[in-house]
Amino acid sequence: MDMKDRIVETFSPEETFELGRKIGEGAEPGSVFTLIGDLGVGKTVFTQGMATGLGITEPVNSPTFTIVQIYEEGRCPFYHFDVYRIGDVSEMDEIGYEDCFYGEGVCLIEWANLIEEILPEHYTQITIYKDLEKGFDYRRIQLEEK
Ligand code: ADP
Ligand code: MG
Repeated sequence: MDMKDRIVETFSPEETFELGRKIGEGAEPGSVFTLIGDLGVGKTVFTQGMATGLGITEPVNSPTFTIVQIYEEGRCPFYHFDVYRIGDVSEMDEIGYEDCFYGEGVCLIEWANLIEEILPEHYTQITIYKDLEKGFDYRRIQLEEK
């Protein structure tokens, strides 16, 4: 499956989950993904698919009270960041983000635009959009190699 820049349209949560699952299956250890999109757009659905693709069976939700949630169960560590509530980038230093970004696991960072200055040189940016004219369950998912 070609992971280069492209747009995928989904028409149900299951399809978004399935896209996440395929990307999780193909993700190389050490890779970083960012995930951008408004509340309720499907970031958690996508993340759950990705975790499944990495071989994680335990439930995955948004890391509400911690910036990062670490899952060790899959074929490599999965670092799920949600930096929405971060006050300052220095908080990322405190949690040792470099071990995650530059380690042997796969990183997924929600709201990564808030920590743009510390993102690695290369990552895959995933942006999920709604388009209500195309239906309530329609999503346009853009994948960009940065
Ligand atoms: P976020 O984490 O971005 O706030 P969630 O993943 O928690 O959003 O919720 C997305 C909601 O949108 C779910 O209730 C899901 O069932 C619904 N939904 C409808 N269509 C889709 C779709 N095509 N892809 C993903 N979620 C969808
Ligand atoms: Mg969410």
